[in-house]
Amino acid sequence: MDQGPASSGSYRSQPDSPRFELVKEIGQNVWIAVHVIAQILNHENLVSLVGRINRQPFSSTQKTDNKTDSYLVWDFCDAANLSTIFKDHPCKDSSYYLPESLCWHVLLALMRAVTYLHDGKRLYSNPGLLPDAPKEWRAVDIDWLPILHRAIEPANIYFQHPRGTETYGQCKLGDFSKAAVTHHVINAKRKPGTRAYGMSVARYRGNEPVLETMRKYPENPEDYPVDERPYSLIHELWAIGAVVFTMMTGKLLTFKCKECGCCHIQKCAVEGCLGDEAAALGCECILGGCEHIGEDDCSEPRSVWKRCNHNCEYPVINIHTYMARAKYTKMLREAVWSLIIFDPKLKGITAGEALSYTKNTEWLYRQWKEETEEEKEFRDVDDDMAERRAAHSKGNGQKKAAE
Ligand SMILES: [Zn+2]
Ligand SMILES: [Zn+2]
Ligand SMILES: [Zn+2]
Ligand SMILES: [Zn+2]
Repeated sequence: MDQGPASSGSYRSQPDSPRFELVKEIGQNVWIAVHVIAQILNHENLVSLVGRINRQPFSSTQKTDNKTDSYLVWDFCDAANLSTIFKDHPCKDSSYYLPESLCWHVLLALMRAVTYLHDGKRLYSNPGLLPDAPKEWRAVDIDWLPILHRAIEPANIYFQHPRGTETYGQCKLGDFSKAAVTHHVINAKRKPGTRAYGMSVARYRGNEPVLETMRKYPENPEDYPVDERPYSLIHELWAIGAVVFTMMTGKLLTFKCKECGCCHIQKCAVEGCLGDEAAALGCECILGGCEHIGEDDCSEPRSVWKRCNHNCEYPVINIHTYMARAKYTKMLREAVWSLIIFDPKLKGITAGEALSYTKNTEWLYRQWKEETEEEKEFRDVDDDMAERRAAHSKGNGQKKAAE
């Protein structure tokens, strides 16, 4: 997969080019190659590969020659992507940007997408149980080789229009041109409750022998050019948190800014001074940015990274301060915080699997749905399906009564 651009939309295969290796034109075998990727890229929160079209091009003389052009057919995301939303709706106030329900919608979609790509696990509804019974996480393969997407950013997060009564259409992660298949085997037969061991690593861009990347992992990422820095699942989860942080504040988070590869993130020395001050005043508010949060900024923001010493266009963000001021519920702030707390230089946190993070996010989401006003207006796909099933069984009941 890490062979160059394979754009979302249709991609014209070029016989002599080594671009998208698994779908390289190799005569009769081409269908098998496409079939392999279509099986992998097959999830409701991924821009999935749904088929292939062959057509014979016409020349200027209107005669067909014997060449056939092949087009890959991807999911059609008819409602733009997240960077278009950012451009069309500039953020006016960094304490509140996009609706909380949309933040949850994107957060859950990306967590499920990464749980599938990395852990090879997805939610199944059990046909033997009642329709409203919770779905189950199950492995799709016994020995899944984890995939790291490596480009979770607004331009690659797509939307479809709603197909039913749900508030937002499906959110899908696309563009697999930077994705890497890693050598770390996720064993689906691991006993429940035991920890995942080991981790999948790749470099941020391109490929190199895995031992080389593992050797660099404990070292200081600042000693390497951005593309050569190690990248693992925890970096992927951090990227999800960073996307949702931008949806909440309008601010970009980066550990490797485009101009110089330096870090533009700071934290408070301890737990977050604005939050601590508010707690001392007796704050138990569900929303951030409440009356207990002071006007003054943090007096001693910290970063373990080298200070950027030139004029960089990106601001330096104290994530503690922005989160304390964000007028979103504590559930969303906690879910996002658990992802963005990671710092590639400190290495204190690693992740062997995505599922435990996803389950935590879903647990917070259910709390949000139960406890908040906004939820009353908001409908997700599960709400839509539950209503359809209810209407369907009511319809059946009426038919039976009429018989
Ligand atoms: Zn502080
Ligand atoms: Zn308060
Ligand atoms: Zn810099
Ligand atoms: Zn910079």
